[in-house]
Amino acid sequence: MSSAQSAQQATPAIATWEVQQQLPKVDYGQGCYVYDQDGKRYIDGSGGPAVFSLGHAHPEVNAAIKDQLDRIAHGYRYTFTSDPLEELTAMIAESCGGGLKHMTFCSSGSEAIESCLKIALQYHASLGKPERCRFIARERSWHGNTLGALSISGFLDRRAAFEGALAPASLLSPANTYRPPEGVFPEDVAAFCAQELENEILRLGADKVAAFIFEPVVGAAGGCVPAPPGYAKRVREICDRHGVLMIADEVMCGAGRTGTWRALQHDGVEPDIMSVAKGLAGGYVPLSAAIYHERLRGPMYQRFGGLLTGHTFTGHTLGCAAGVAVQKVVRRDNLLEKVRENGILLKRMLSDALGDRPYVGDIRGRGYFLCVEIVKDRATKEPYPRDRMVYQKVLRQSFANGLICYPVGGNVDGKRGDIVIISPPYIATPEELVEIVEKLAKSLGQVMTSIG
Ligand code: PLP
Repeated sequence: MSSAQSAQQATPAIATWEVQQQLPKVDYGQGCYVYDQDGKRYIDGSGGPAVFSLGHAHPEVNAAIKDQLDRIAHGYRYTFTSDPLEELTAMIAESCGGGLKHMTFCSSGSEAIESCLKIALQYHASLGKPERCRFIARERSWHGNTLGALSISGFLDRRAAFEGALAPASLLSPANTYRPPEGVFPEDVAAFCAQELENEILRLGADKVAAFIFEPVVGAAGGCVPAPPGYAKRVREICDRHGVLMIADEVMCGAGRTGTWRALQHDGVEPDIMSVAKGLAGGYVPLSAAIYHERLRGPMYQRFGGLLTGHTFTGHTLGCAAGVAVQKVVRRDNLLEKVRENGILLKRMLSDALGDRPYVGDIRGRGYFLCVEIVKDRATKEPYPRDRMVYQKVLRQSFANGLICYPVGGNVDGKRGDIVIISPPYIATPEELVEIVEKLAKSLGQVMTSIG
C-alpha cells in the first residue's frame, strides 16, 4: 500500500475540525480547576497534556511574568543575555546534576527534540565523523510534530500523511512489560530490548549511528510506560561501547512529573543529551530546553565556535522568567517530594477504584504520571477495535462530568489501543486526587456500559 493510501485510510488520531468547533470556550483557571464561559467547572486531572505543573493562575508565577513583561518581553540572543536566562540555566543544571550543564532554550517540545538531534550530529561532525547521522528510536514513542522529530516517532497515525518525506530512522520494539515483544517474557523485556538496540547498531554499522533516543517513561504514545528495571543502564553501556549518544526525551516525563527532576534519575542513568519542556514553565509561557553534557561542549565549540542551532525566540526572556518562577515554587514547596508521596497514593486510589473492572488491563506509571489501559479482554489483553473510538468517548464523557483527563488511542500497535493518562498538577491535594479518581471511575463506567 502506498503511503498516500495508508494516510487516506487512517482514522484521525486527534479531534477533527468539526469536533473542535464544538469545544467549550475556556474562561479562566484557578489552581487545579478550569472554568469555561458557561461557568462550568472542570478539575484538571491531566494538567492538559501533562503541562500545567503548578495548575492555573498561580499568583507568584503570574506576578513574576507581569513584572518581566513590564521590563521587557525578550532580549534577542544575538544582542543580549538576561537574568532570567542565566538564572534558569543555573537552576536546570543544578536540578539535572552531574555533567548536564549546558543547554539551549526553545519554545516547544518538538523544537527541543530537533535541537537534541542537531547537537548529536554536530558533536559527531566536530570529531570528524559526519557520517554518524543515523538515529535509532522505538515504536510507540512520540518525539514531536516537526519533520525531524516525526521521523523518529513511532506513532503511525501521526506519521502516515508525511511518510514519504521523513528521514530514515530505525524504530525498535517498545520496552513495555505489559505488552512485551512477541515471545518475550515480561522479566526479559529489558535484556531483549537492549540487545535489539545493540543488534541494530551493529547492523547499521556503529560508525553510521549518531544516537539512540527514547522516552524514559513513555508518554502519550505508550501510556506512561516506565523503562523496565535495568533497561536504561544496559542501553547506557551499549551506547558507550559503540560511541553512540544517548538522548532522553523528557519533554513530557521530565521536570519533576515522575517525582524526580529528571525521569531517568530514577534509573540511575545520565544521558548525553536530554529534552525537557511541558512542566518546565508549566504552560505559563511556551518553553523547552535541549540540555547536553559538558563533555560534548568542548569539541563542538572548538570546531564550530558554538552551537549550530537556535531560533528567533531562543532563550525568550519572558519564557525563562516564567521557568524561573515555576521552578522556584517547585523547589520551595518541595513539590517533587509531594509528587513522589502522593503519586503512590494516587496509584493506589486508581487501583482501588478501577483495578477490578473487567476492561482495565493495566494501571502503571510513576509520580503524577499515571495511566489506565483499557482492554476488551483482560486475559488476552486484546484492545477494543479502533472504530469503537473508546478513548474519544472517554474524553467526551469525562469532560461532561467535569474532568479533564488525557485519553489517547493507538498504544497497542499504532492504531488500536485506548489509554487514559492522569497527570495532575504537582500542587494537587489528596482531596483533589479523590475527585479526579471518582470522576474518572464514573466516566469510564458510563462509557463502558454504553459500549456494552
Ligand atoms: N516529546 C514528547 C515525549 C512529547 O510527549 C511531545 C508532545 O507531546 C513532544 C516531544 C513534542 O512536544 P510539542 O508538542 O511541544 O512540540
